[in-house]
This record gives sequence, structure tokens and C-alpha cells, in this order.
Amino acid sequence: MTVTATSNIDILAIGAHPDDVEVGAGGLMAKFNKLGLKTAIIDLSAGELATNGTPEIRGQEALQAAQVLGLSWRKCLNLPDRGLKTSRLTIDKLVQIIRESRPRLILCPYWEDRHPDHVQAARLVEESWFDAGLTKIQAQIKPYRPPQLWHYFLSRAGEPKFIVDVSDYYEIKREAILTHRSQFGRQASSQETFLNCGPGSMLAIVESRDRFLGSSIGYSYGEGFTTRTPLAIDNPLGLMGVPR
Ligand SMILES: [Zn+2]
Repeated sequence: MTVTATSNIDILAIGAHPDDVEVGAGGLMAKFNKLGLKTAIIDLSAGELATNGTPEIRGQEALQAAQVLGLSWRKCLNLPDRGLKTSRLTIDKLVQIIRESRPRLILCPYWEDRHPDHVQAARLVEESWFDAGLTKIQAQIKPYRPPQLWHYFLSRAGEPKFIVDVSDYYEIKREAILTHRSQFGRQASSQETFLNCGPGSMLAIVESRDRFLGSSIGYSYGEGFTTRTPLAIDNPLGLMGVPR
């Protein structure tokens, strides 16, 4: 696992803050890894405005969580927390990484959320995904637009277009989330926040949501996703549990 390389991967998940992907799609990332696919995460910001933790501590936690999820690499772009914007410069950075790493699928936050950075992240990734396929943007790098762009849910869950069974990977997801100790743990120095406190803490809310989503497809835990475009079904028998 490296923090600098952007080698070829299958799945690229992007979050506004260092724990977003773990919360929204940690189970799916662990599942992809176990299925033998190469995965990576980009954290757009270091989450420096969080009540607890510092960018240095959060960076260390993010790398530990990367090991838990089995990522090939994880990179922080150090864009400003609460200052994400769809500027040409930022889009170009993402276009370059997308073209260099050539993922088949990009994951990013859902486009509606209480946190403005999550909304901005969705917009930024959508624009970068689009521009990555344009020949005349950064013409020195071969254009490449990944076939799939899926949105995961954070503090606001929309209607999922599909739900992935992540029951067998839920312990890994839980461990990856709790590795962000400065956010989800209770230490002597930490202040109480909605992330770390009480039965309504973020982990409890995430687990409840994932249990509900899992139960709606007949499994213990599920993660929901949506897309702006229709999903192609290659093997309709697979939806009925019939092998090809
Ligand atoms: Zn976030």
C-alpha cells in the first residue's frame, strides 16, 4: 500500500473526508478486495475542521484503515475542508488521477447530504469523471472515462437503485470505521460529538441503516448505491440466483 502512486486499479472510491468511504462503502470495498479486484481511495480533504483529531492523526488513521480494507493506494489531495469547489485546477487533478489509474468504477458521495462538502464532492467527481473522457482536456494524457459512477450514502440516504450484500465483510467495515479513532472513539482528550457519543452515534446509525438495507434484500447487512444512469444487466439469471 502506498500513499503516492496512482497505479492501475479496478475501483476508485472518492470521499470529501478521510472516513467517508468507510462509512458509505466500506463493506463493498472490502468485498471487492476479497474478490481479487484492486481498490484505492482518494480523500479530497484531510478533514482538518473536525472537532476532534488533527490532519496528522487523521492521516495516520486513514492509512491504517487502508490496510484494513486492503487498498492498493490511498491519497489525500489536501483540498480545504469546507472549501471544496469545482474549480478547473481541482477537476484537472482528478482527471489526471482517473486517467493514470484507469478504474472501471468510481464511487463518490450521494448528491444530496446535510454536509455541503459531500454535495460538493459529488459534483466535483461527476464533472471530473465527465472531463476525463474529453480529448481536448489535458491532451497530453490519453482520455479515459470509467464505465461506471456510483454514489454511496452518508448522512442522507436517498432511494438506492441497488443494494449490495456485505454481510460477510461487515466486521471489516466496522474495523475500518473504528480505525478512525479520533472521530469514532472516546478518548480522554476527545470532545463529545454526534460521531462518538451515545446510542445515536454515527456508527450505530450506520449499522442500523446497513441492517435495514440488508434485511430488505434478505441478508444481514447491505450497502445501498445509486447512479444517474441506468445499470445494464448482462445476466438477468444472476438476479434470480441462477448461475450462468
Ligand atoms: Zn464527510
